[in-house]
Amino acid sequence: MNRYSDVAIVLKRKSFGEADNLITVFSKNHGKIKLLAKGSRKIKSKFMGHIEPLCLIKLSAVSGKSFEILTSSQIEESHHELKSNLKNLPLINLICEITDAVTCERLSNYQVFNLITRVFSSGLWGNKPELISLFYFINLLKFLGFAPNFHNCVKCDKNGIIFPYFSYYWGGVVCQDCIDSYPGKRIDEETVMILKLVNSSTNKIFSIVDRLHDKDTKKSFKIISDFFIYIIEKKPLSLKCVEEHIY
Ligand SMILES: [Zn+2]
Repeated sequence: MNRYSDVAIVLKRKSFGEADNLITVFSKNHGKIKLLAKGSRKIKSKFMGHIEPLCLIKLSAVSGKSFEILTSSQIEESHHELKSNLKNLPLINLICEITDAVTCERLSNYQVFNLITRVFSSGLWGNKPELISLFYFINLLKFLGFAPNFHNCVKCDKNGIIFPYFSYYWGGVVCQDCIDSYPGKRIDEETVMILKLVNSSTNKIFSIVDRLHDKDTKKSFKIISDFFIYIIEKKPLSLKCVEEHIY
């Protein structure tokens, strides 16, 4: 039996059997793992309160025949405050669902792990939760090898001009001259500007927060959420809730 320890953020918890939960976590050293938390739905379970989505935990596990079994857990950070703000919940659920959908089991990715922990500790949640979520999604794309290009036309490489289209297939902006051969979705100048800024750093986001209009943020968010729909080939369930509650 292979025993190991790691630190991980819980993405999903699902009831399993009579008293167990099956949890999906993104860990620092093993990437995404699914773990069976035996007896965790019993009132006196040692896992009680540790395996909720968003909890950062230290864990020990063993590889079983069908599942990896969670043997111990210790809570490092519950992110309780973040979850208690109802406005954040749809976006948090979307972050967890998309991260689960686009990552492979047992493929470690330090950048993604650091991104998740950094974003869930960010002070931006209290002000513009949709912007910090946008920062997360753009960087997630980057760290998984789908970095969107907002600077040069993906066909002719032209830059310093206005790009009226975004191609999901090629993962970037397309100029007017190339649109016939590289079909894309309409995008406006403000949206490209926001995406460029959010793509660069969280400090830049802080500097523009007060000047941003909600409608421009919404358009930027839509471009990126549609990019994920294109990649995972289905609409995430939590996205509907984000669309209803945030916009
Ligand atoms: Zn072009």
